Amino acid sequence: VPFDASSELAAYRAAVRDWLERHAGEAPHPHAARDAAPEAEHVARRRAWQARLADAGWLGAAWPADAGGRGLTPAHAAVVEQELEAAGVPGAFDVVGIGMVAPTIIAHGSPAQRSRHLPPLLRADEVWCQLFSEPGAGSDLAAVATSARSEPDGNWRVSGQKMWTSHAQHAAFGLMLARTDISVPKHHGLTMFVVPMDAVGITIRPLRQISGATRFSEVFLDDVRLGADAVVGDVGGGWRVAVGALSGERSALSRTAESLSWPVETFAAALASVPSAVDDPDVQRRFGEIACELLALRWRRRQAAERPPDPVTDPAAALDKVTAVAAATRAGDLLCDVLGPAALEDEEWGRMVSDLPGLRSAGGTDEIIRTVVGERALGLPPEPRVDRDIPFDRLPEPGLGTS
Ligand SMILES: Cc1cc2nc3c(=O)[nH]c(=O)nc-3n(C[C@H](O)[C@H](O)[C@H](O)COP(=O)(O)OP(=O)(O)OC[C@H]3O[C@@H](n4cnc5c(N)ncnc54)[C@H](O)[C@@H]3O)c2cc1C
Repeated sequence: VPFDASSELAAYRAAVRDWLERHAGEAPHPHAARDAAPEAEHVARRRAWQARLADAGWLGAAWPADAGGRGLTPAHAAVVEQELEAAGVPGAFDVVGIGMVAPTIIAHGSPAQRSRHLPPLLRADEVWCQLFSEPGAGSDLAAVATSARSEPDGNWRVSGQKMWTSHAQHAAFGLMLARTDISVPKHHGLTMFVVPMDAVGITIRPLRQISGATRFSEVFLDDVRLGADAVVGDVGGGWRVAVGALSGERSALSRTAESLSWPVETFAAALASVPSAVDDPDVQRRFGEIACELLALRWRRRQAAERPPDPVTDPAAALDKVTAVAAATRAGDLLCDVLGPAALEDEEWGRMVSDLPGLRSAGGTDEIIRTVVGERALGLPPEPRVDRDIPFDRLPEPGLGTS
């Protein structure tokens, strides 16, 4: 039973629930695998549903009113997430746009960027992607080598390659981290840009995953021209913008931790369908351990709804994502042991078992998140970073340093 800290929040929950009772029937299935429609149609339905939620005021609840939001609190946004999940309907399709890009543009964007980009982002009229990772820059994101050169007229020319770009094939815009100065140490020569994904010189090459889905792509930028107004924040200040964006991403992933994995009741029902598993002490022990972690995550999420942590000052929140993915991976292993090959024949379990290992990397790997928590939350001695103060163009092999 959800606990609401105030009667105002309880009334808000009742309003969300009431709206969902009337409109949940119009929602598409959350997962493409369970939707009989072809993927393009599924995506169109998910986008239309996002627009419906936005128009009803349930998305962007905690955004400032002058950014197109409702000016409410993160607790209100958490209530909406909880009620959507309880109703079994999807939330926003553009999780990158809502979870990462919008908070970044709200914090660092110019007034023109806010008014141009936030309203269509909220309704999924324009979907966004995040152009950060590269073949030589993932955990060590500050090693980004995509180059943006300024022209005398103030415009920019961009060339490079991005990897793992989720939703690139659906995106109208990308938030891109690029190197604008190679003569300074790696964290200082970066700048954040807004990139129209239909710009001349951009090639998007979707990558097919083991699950059969194509969630992300390689993106090639070949002498792409951007205007001076494409810069988000300060030229050379891209690292600060990126750290805020990554904190937002980890926090969004943590908030969805339980749904990232699966409700413990769903696992229990699947295991209980095999009578011999119910009395097997090994299955009981393994299920008990996993259930404890998933139920603890549910409790953490309720706490976070009442007192949402600041992802920048409380990086420990990101540990929920590490815990959720690890617990759900173990649950997938247990299901496969109990159900045998039938586990993979079921589309939903098959998708979960093949998708989860990737989530150990998405939004920062387990090792990197643990390092961030160790250093920033626990005050442990920092990792040695030998390349931190060396100008980027004097690194022995740019891109092979530590973050
Ligand atoms: C499903 C999915 C979606 C993604 N979506 C996007 C997206 O939309 N946009 C985007 O820009 N990126 C995206 N990514 C990329 C993601 O951010 C990177 O995969 C992640 O940052 C890790 O980088 P890497 O894959 O290059 O691995 P690497 O950095 O090469 O790491 C390989 C291994 O080495 C370990 N390691 C590396 N450095 C250290 C260290 N200093 N200490 C200890 N261990 C270390 C890592 O933990 C990992 O186990 C996505 C990835 C996935 C899987």
